Amino acid sequence: MTYLDRMRLYDKTLGRDHKCHYCKRLLLSYKADMSLEDMALCATKDHIIPKALGGTNADDNYVVACAACNRLKAHIPYNVFKVFADMVLIPFPDLPLHILRNSLNLYIMHLLERSCTNTKIMRTACTATLLRVKEGIDEYEGNKVKADRKRKRA
Ligand SMILES: [Zn+2]
Repeated sequence: MTYLDRMRLYDKTLGRDHKCHYCKRLLLSYKADMSLEDMALCATKDHIIPKALGGTNADDNYVVACAACNRLKAHIPYNVFKVFADMVLIPFPDLPLHILRNSLNLYIMHLLERSCTNTKIMRTACTATLLRVKEGIDEYEGNKVKADRKRKRA
């Protein structure tokens, strides 16, 4: 399902005056001819525990968020992003995307600096991450081997 399909789908499930869970801006109904700016305010489903980390599609595992917030949040954990939303997105709803991204990155860096100085914890987290993306790594390695073979034959 594409991003656009998802917006159309969740749009149908919404009532009027529905607001984004994070920025509290009013969500818009999807229309084929709407501007990109308006499209950013279409409804999407945002998983609280990401599916990549074992989250399900159950009703209690998602919130309805605008497309802009959903994209900005990406893989950031719910509780980490919610604080950012409460303190930045709600009081400053019109900040340009590059400023939002910069401040979000800085916020994450601050968090990492303060709590993640334990190399052992970092290594454990990294191993867990590698296991999760193993398929992608295998595919990448496989393609690299194929490319190397081709180069040697040439
Ligand atoms: Zn939003």
